[in-house]
This record gives sequence, structure tokens and C-alpha cells, in this order.
Amino acid sequence: MGGVNRTRAQSGVSVSTGGRAGANLGAVRSHNAALVLGLLRDAGAEGISRLELAERTGLTPQAVSKITARLREQGFAAQAGRRASTGGKPRTVLRLVPEAGHAVGVHLDRDELRAVLVDLDGAVVAQRRAELDLGAGATTVLGVLARAVEELVGQALGLGDDGALAGAATLLGVGVALPGPLDHVRGVLHRVTGFPEWDGFALRDVLQARLGVAVVVDKDTNAAALGLSVRGEGGSGSFAYLHLGTGLGAGLVIGGSVHRGARTGAGEFGHQVIQLDGPLCECGNRGCVEVLCLGAVGRGEPAEAARVLGVAAANLVGLLDIDAVLLGGRTVAGAPQVYVRGVGDVLAARARREGMPGGAVPVRVAQGGEGLVAEGAAQLLLGRLFGRGDA
Ligand SMILES: [Zn+2]
Repeated sequence: MGGVNRTRAQSGVSVSTGGRAGANLGAVRSHNAALVLGLLRDAGAEGISRLELAERTGLTPQAVSKITARLREQGFAAQAGRRASTGGKPRTVLRLVPEAGHAVGVHLDRDELRAVLVDLDGAVVAQRRAELDLGAGATTVLGVLARAVEELVGQALGLGDDGALAGAATLLGVGVALPGPLDHVRGVLHRVTGFPEWDGFALRDVLQARLGVAVVVDKDTNAAALGLSVRGEGGSGSFAYLHLGTGLGAGLVIGGSVHRGARTGAGEFGHQVIQLDGPLCECGNRGCVEVLCLGAVGRGEPAEAARVLGVAAANLVGLLDIDAVLLGGRTVAGAPQVYVRGVGDVLAARARREGMPGGAVPVRVAQGGEGLVAEGAAQLLLGRLFGRGDA
């Protein structure tokens, strides 16, 4: 973690790079500061008064004043104006300063890299794209990644005199999203389907040492689901984000939080077996959703691919009783209506059979386009700043 971030941690807002904060006074203060920061963000340019902050957080006005004074000193909050109040003097209204902090989100796909720089509001400030072969070996892949991030940040924010990322004063860190399975807490990769050479690679620690800033690693599908949840796209409840690109995976949001499971291995949707003794999958099993779905895509039969995806989605809906199914990824982007209709038809048939009250679970294309995963990866850093426990 860079010096700037450490200073912020001491003064109440922390971005931790692993594990959960303990229940000590410092952590409580951090949590309250994060709550206040989140409310400032949600209030937008219009701002929010200290009294409203106290009401919404349940903190005392004195505690809120201390926190907002610190946030203003650090440059995270600013006065948005004054608002008339009944009786007493006009209330000062505060707002978030979006440009006070930035995060990089990187989407490492099997054949390309996308990197975005976002501000505290999650708005994209700069982005770049590079060709990449995820199987080219760690040295090559990390070289492409480091160069892309340094160029992105260097052009938008400027680097230190020594060209180091840590010299970018407002940079909170880098979130990296890639195909799983992987260990999100330790930042260690497992056997990425098709690229077994990454098994056991400590991506977070290696990148943190190389870039000199905080790094968080997660599956591409979880990053996308987090980004969608932050934007409120899946509602405040539960949804599944199904990503069909060069592989097939799912990001699950249950009760407003990304669900990763005990070993952060949840969401391995693509390797659910739906055909016993079916075709051999790259994972070593037979009849996985992924091998059947990608097989249909390869044969130029998107309607059949959508039907396979729909059957697997119906299993998920039956298991988790979620509110919505969101579709994304390059393959879906190539024929969005075919996939929405195909998956929707299977879910509708299931709802009719079971007489589900309210009908079938809605299916739609996730908004956010090709930057969805990279922007979600940046939220792995921002979410922690705003007190999201699932970032
Ligand atoms: Zn498989």
C-alpha cells in the first residue's frame, strides 16, 4: 500500500488489501467514515447536510462533524452550498469530490486486456485496450498489464518523478478481474480453464510488488456483478450475471452482496454437468454447460446455445430464487436478442410448469457493454472505500 493510502487509513478511511477489519476503535471509525462517504456519493452534486448524515447513519451530530471535517481535510468532501432550514441558520450542504480519488480496473481476458481509470463516482476518466495472450506466460502477461496501467495512469493523472504509480497521489489501487477459478482473499489463481500453467500463481502479491500500489484480484464475473450491484442495475435484491464470452461463468449477488462462498469459489456456473457422459470439457469433466454452449456457438447455432444457457439458468433460478438474470460477454453482445429470447423462453416454460406467482424471472442484457468487467474491477477498490463488505 502506498504512503498516501496509509495516511488516509490513519485518518479514518481505509482501503485494506486482504482479510476483514477487526472490531477495534480504528475500524469502527473507518466504517463510520465509509458510511458517511457512501451517503455523500449517493447524494450527488446536490449534496447532503450534516444533520441528514446524522439521521441516516444513526451517528451523533458531533461524530458526523468530526468525520466530515476529516473528509474535508483529506479533500474527499467539499461544501456544496447552503440550504434554507426551518427556524435556525441555513444548513451547510456537503458533497463528494469525485476527483479526490481514482481506481484502475483491469479486465484480463483470454485474448485481450481492457483497463479503465475511474473516479470516486465510478465515472470512466480514461481507458485503453491491448492484445493479450493469457497463455503467453506470466512475464509477458504481467509486462503487458503493467505497461497498460502505467500508461493509463501516467496520461490521466501523472506519475511520480521516478515513473512510479505510487506517485499518482489520488490513486487508491488496481483491481484485476480474470477468468476463474481463483482465491479472491489471497489473490492466488487456480487452474484457469485452458490455461493450467497459472495454477497457484500469487497474482495479487506479484502485481503489488511490481506496481507499488494496492491490488485486489477477483473473477471477471464477480467484478461485473459488483459493478452492476453498485449501479443498482440488478435492484437491491438478488440476481445472477451470466457471462458468455470465451468461457461461461456467473457472478451471484444475493441480498445485495456479491456471493463468493467459503473458499471464494462460488459461481463456477460453466462447469455444472447438464448432460451425463456428454462431450469432454476442457475442465476434464463431461457434459458441462460451457462445452455444450460453446459447442453450439462454434457450430453457428446461437439459438441452441441460448437454449443450453437457458436450461442452466433455470437450474440456478430454481436453486436460488433470484429476482433477475442479466446476460453479458462478447458472445451475447454478438446476438443479444437471440440470447435474451432463448434464455427467457426456458425460464418462462419453467415458471408456467411450476405456476410461479408473478411469472418468469426477467432476463435482460446487462448494461455497461464491453467495459463492464473492467469498471467492476475498479469497484473492488472503491467498494472498500465506501464500506461495501463484499468488495
Ligand atoms: Zn467443464
